[in-house]
Amino acid sequence: MKALKAQRAVHERIEEAVEKLRARGVRMTPQRYAILAYMLKTRAHPTADEIYKALSPDFPSMSVATVYNNLKLFKEAGLVRELTFGDQASRFDGQVHEHYHAVCVVCGRIDDFEYTPLKFVEREAARLTGYTPLEHRMEIYGVCPNCQLKRATETSGDVHAAAGR
Ligand code: ZN
Ligand code: MN
Repeated sequence: MKALKAQRAVHERIEEAVEKLRARGVRMTPQRYAILAYMLKTRAHPTADEIYKALSPDFPSMSVATVYNNLKLFKEAGLVRELTFGDQASRFDGQVHEHYHAVCVVCGRIDDFEYTPLKFVEREAARLTGYTPLEHRMEIYGVCPNCQLKRATETSGDVHAAAGR
């Protein structure tokens, strides 16, 4: 029931996004629709290359450049956000509301978490620097549950190996 409701919400978001693009004069193509739907469905924060790899079986003639150009288009329409991390490949976020991220330093996975936007930090920054704040990003860096588990298993494996000696 809950899954069905979530599915419907995603479907509605896709329809709204298609309308928004149409209003901007962006023509819908099967490839464009597939990239858009992928971005609005995923909770991961994929790179253009990851999206390309996921969709290329269905669209063999599609190139990474097509994916990238579409992501730029969606970004300009306010439908996705681009997350840059130094000189690493950009990651794209289908959730455009204000939220924060936890980043795994082992596998690179990125998870969303909701927290009251830290507007007071922006106000403090404005006071201390004279800047007009536009936005801010915050990531918590750590080890994700999967990698914690992997580490724990490896460690217990070592214990068994030591005991067998
Ligand atoms: Zn991890
Ligand atoms: Mn996110």
